Amino acid sequence: MYKPTLNYAQQLDKEDNLAHLRAQFHIPKDAEGNDWLYFTGNSLGLQPKQTQQYIQQELDDWAKYGVEGHFEARNPWMPYHEFLTNSMAKIVGAKPLEVVVMNTLTTNLHLLMVSFYQPTKTKYKIVIESDAFPSDRYAVQSQLKFHGFDTEKGLVEWKPREGEELLRIEDLEKIVDEQGDEIALLLIGGVNYYTGQYLDIKRIAEIGHAKNCMVGIDLAHGAGNISPELHDSGVDFAAWCTYKYLNSGPGSLAGLFVHEKHGHNKELPRFAGWWNHNKETRFNMRQPFDVMPGAEGWQLSNPPILSMAAIRASLDMFEEVGMGALRAKSEKLTGYFEYLINQIDTDRIKIITPSNPKERGCQLSIQVRNADKSLHKKLTENNIITDWREPDVIRCAPVPMYNSFEDVYRMVEILKTLL
Ligand SMILES: *Cc1c(COP(=O)(O)O)cnc(C)c1O
Repeated sequence: MYKPTLNYAQQLDKEDNLAHLRAQFHIPKDAEGNDWLYFTGNSLGLQPKQTQQYIQQELDDWAKYGVEGHFEARNPWMPYHEFLTNSMAKIVGAKPLEVVVMNTLTTNLHLLMVSFYQPTKTKYKIVIESDAFPSDRYAVQSQLKFHGFDTEKGLVEWKPREGEELLRIEDLEKIVDEQGDEIALLLIGGVNYYTGQYLDIKRIAEIGHAKNCMVGIDLAHGAGNISPELHDSGVDFAAWCTYKYLNSGPGSLAGLFVHEKHGHNKELPRFAGWWNHNKETRFNMRQPFDVMPGAEGWQLSNPPILSMAAIRASLDMFEEVGMGALRAKSEKLTGYFEYLINQIDTDRIKIITPSNPKERGCQLSIQVRNADKSLHKKLTENNIITDWREPDVIRCAPVPMYNSFEDVYRMVEILKTLL
């Protein structure tokens, strides 16, 4: 069992065979040079030291070759996105055909809804979690409006029960049972950004498909955090950003998944540009549109290579370590964090994230009764970077790539004195 001592935390770091990875990241520091205790990898992941080199390579090749870099660069820009596909597919448990890196998350959700939200007069509703990330809610509302539907009537919320914070799958089942004939799409966050709850996406897909609803998953808080097994889950589509757990830099490009079962359907409605046109004839320029199979068939534009270089730097690290090893450390690290919080002698604190490691990623959402944002401010003054959500929740994500058991120990010691 765990022990609540600094010695013990340091012992866990010594035994951690991923501990060396921390040195491969830039850890922000205070004015005296002390490392911040950084727990916001769920918002913006830290920078791998090798990212600079990867971007520099493309700057150098741009300087050296100009437009010829599309073919002559060491990593030719024409197929550059393909260099990311295999490792990204592994991270989300998909086949390479099913995955592409392009655009940003909300943009991808819209492009996916162009194809997979095909409402009729009677079957048009969209189900989201009541605690969905605002961007997803706005995206869905605007899709309803765009198709001429009332956003109040068209938006169905899957809510926690009175007095509870977490979602129950039976409640989604009930919604779909009762309103399935009117529901066109379920768009659900695989890991909820607020509670950290990891939902059973395979079960969600079954529930939706039983009533002929499309099922899409937002994996912003899942990719690089949990192992979602997208292909086996059977969900129709998914999208995620790469700047959170995938450490690819502010505003970096997003991932997109379209299940193989839709990948060869050329009849699906979709928006088009030169980048989802057949690669072989793209530069003939005068061909009629000929859509590519698989996820690549949703691209529109030639992508920003500098941003992709940062993604490549990060994915190379994930490739080396593997999600299995990361998840194993993550369960232990978050387990230790949870243990330490539960040792604090107070009734003001409640962890709203599920206690079952299979139902969460690395994040713990900690509710502090009678607290206000001044607690968050004090944490920050103590070099502890967390995320505050009104009215009283601190979201903390110990990331297995760069956070240590000692980080977690020190954080809880300081939290204790502030309470
Ligand atoms: C972070 C996050 C977003 C952000 O969307 P962008 O298009 O990348 O700005 C959207 N949805 C969820 C669930 C998120 O966690």
